[in-house]
Amino acid sequence: MSPAEEVIKYANMLNTENLSALRSGNISIRHDDGFLITPSGVKYSSLNYEDIVFVSLDGKFEEKKMKPSSEWRFHKDIYLNKIEANAIVHAHSTHATAVSTHGKSIPAFHYMVALAGGNDIKCADYATFGTEELSQNIIKALENRKACLMSNHGQVAFEKNLNKAFELAQEIENICQQYINALKIGKPKILSDDEMIKILEQIKNYKKE
Ligand SMILES: [Zn+2]
Repeated sequence: MSPAEEVIKYANMLNTENLSALRSGNISIRHDDGFLITPSGVKYSSLNYEDIVFVSLDGKFEEKKMKPSSEWRFHKDIYLNKIEANAIVHAHSTHATAVSTHGKSIPAFHYMVALAGGNDIKCADYATFGTEELSQNIIKALENRKACLMSNHGQVAFEKNLNKAFELAQEIENICQQYINALKIGKPKILSDDEMIKILEQIKNYKKE
């Protein structure tokens, strides 16, 4: 499967796996000295190979072709800032978006919070979609993390390949659903930093296997 075909496959899965409806959210994969990303405004179910746009790491793309997703800037900045990032999934998934509207980090109410890379899942401050400001807010929320919420917007996850990035976005969505349910019956107990250090160590070893 070519990288562009992979982008199309996972863009469709945004819809079929209920991570993002219609044309919301976006997918990219690192390629040469830039990345391949879903185009702006095309329904994922009607994407073709030639619709996938190449954007260079200095933010250039061919004007005559399809325009890249309006949110290409934060993809570029994640690839520039995180050498380990080879694929990015951005979704307006229902529960992550609901939690994001509170603009707060998700504490360690469940040990799986560690999947994002630390003892909480940060929420990037709000800024208008597609802006440099939003991109900077996301980079800040991704410090020592590989996934974060985006205030009043959704979530973003990166990984070393697209399959893993997509799975991480699905995990974040599940965690957010559980968090909403936990809050419904009161204030959840939060795991200690010591316990989360143990969990993070275990996840690291587990992933090496
Ligand atoms: Zn978005």
